[in-house]
Amino acid sequence: MACIDCGAAEFEADSWQTMLVAMMPHYFESHHDVISGVTEPSREGWMTRFMDAYRAASQRQKNEL
Ligand SMILES: [Zn+2]
Repeated sequence: MACIDCGAAEFEADSWQTMLVAMMPHYFESHHDVISGVTEPSREGWMTRFMDAYRAASQRQKNEL
């Protein structure tokens, strides 16, 4: 799936947990404000966006198989 904040980086993983881990280096590099500056509510908002994007991406993958 593509990065949900810039769309410029693509990641592949078998589960949302490994997807999160795979995205971490990119977030530290390009979206450090997202990691360091977020308050609890916006962190939850980010997780919601992430899970929605992950579900959509894995659904697309299933349809292609
Ligand atoms: Zn990004």
